[in-house]
Amino acid sequence: MARILITSGPTRQYLDPVRYLTNASSGRMGSGLAVAALEAGHQVVLVSGPVQITYPPDIELHSVISTEEMLQKCADLFPDCDGMIGVAAPCDYRPEKIAPHKIAKTGEPLQIKLMETDDIVAQLGKCKGDRWVDGFALETEDPRLRALVKLEKKSCDLMVLNGVDAMHAKTNSVEILEPSGKSIGAFEGKKETVAKQIFGVIEQRLIGNPRDSAATPQYSR
Ligand code: C5P
Repeated sequence: MARILITSGPTRQYLDPVRYLTNASSGRMGSGLAVAALEAGHQVVLVSGPVQITYPPDIELHSVISTEEMLQKCADLFPDCDGMIGVAAPCDYRPEKIAPHKIAKTGEPLQIKLMETDDIVAQLGKCKGDRWVDGFALETEDPRLRALVKLEKKSCDLMVLNGVDAMHAKTNSVEILEPSGKSIGAFEGKKETVAKQIFGVIEQRLIGNPRDSAATPQYSR
């Protein structure tokens, strides 16, 4: 039995107490992967941003709002897990400053400076030690090449390439790439079904086949 960390859903980056940046991620793929992992007899630790869906009850659920909170929570939880699936769509940018009061209209354009947030998968990947990491990528141009670059940059063991229509949809079409660049599976259909098929590959390639990475730094357990 493995203990699996899953990030899921969007994050929010507030600009003032009432306004925020976000995206249309629903959390459905995260939920589907959680169900597949539970059905296969594994423990699921799921860190989610704000979503409308209900996750399965038998998971350890941690709810967060921002990308910074998601990263902090994952960094705390990852050392006790065997691997992670990064299916969340964390906001890549945050306003440089969060206004303490609601920003009032002035009749003039409002300029907001955005700073990049940390990449959660990349941060965890750097220190994964003997843990495995599965990332997701959604690309509109040169999808395979770009997904492979991300796989390497984020120290992933597998990368799931999403179809462009995946966001907030009930269906998805994916392709799974391994570090050599080889495509090792392509699945299409309802997110729940596709999640099970993806998890089957994770189970076969990563859970049943532990990595040997003495060279990478390790989180202490
Ligand atoms: O670069 P891009 O956002 O396409 O990468 C997608 C992958 O990176 C997903 O696995 C997503 O969960 C992860 N990611 C992350 N932290 C971010 C942005 C993306 O973990 N700030």
